Amino acid sequence: MERDCIDDCVTLCRSCDLVVTKRALPSGVRALCPRCHTALYDTPYCSINGMLALCITALIFFTPANFLPILELHFLGSVRTATIAEGAIAVAHQGYWIVGISVMLTAVIAPGVLILSILSQILIIKYRLHSPFFRDVLKRLLKYQDILSQLTMLEIYLISILVSVFNLSDFADIFLGMGTFCFSMLFIVTLFLQREYNLEHMWSMLDE
Ligand SMILES: [Zn+2]
Repeated sequence: MERDCIDDCVTLCRSCDLVVTKRALPSGVRALCPRCHTALYDTPYCSINGMLALCITALIFFTPANFLPILELHFLGSVRTATIAEGAIAVAHQGYWIVGISVMLTAVIAPGVLILSILSQILIIKYRLHSPFFRDVLKRLLKYQDILSQLTMLEIYLISILVSVFNLSDFADIFLGMGTFCFSMLFIVTLFLQREYNLEHMWSMLDE
């Protein structure tokens, strides 16, 4: 099934505009233009089962990453813990509600919707590609895929967590717990998922 699609796809060389038919590559191999030897494409063709595994892993980490404290602060005998959502609500309460909403959207809601959307796409492709209703759902999901992946900004929050740990560690004891671990894992799994995911390839599934 995968091979048929790949044989149908053509690509243009960026340097010399030669039309090249795409072929399935073994992993770790790059296709070069036969005329000018410019790199044309790597092996972006995601394996559906690999993405399914990444999606399920991401979903397992999603709940603890958002409900367990990311940081635990011990300062002069008092203990403070915070999750991403609590941080967003606290910021909103101080009057910066746009910041609070953005944090909720880009760190909690968008990653969750992104993972669920990719999971539904994979399940439809695997089991329900012949039903017209699910094909329509798949089309809609693919249309919104770009904006969802642009809204997902876990890396920014991971960096800000690290920055605050370095800044606060001078005068308070910082403990990183299960929540920090799950958030970092969620970031790594989502990164790999987005790297494996190929929108063009997903669209081509509909042509079969
Ligand atoms: Zn070329």
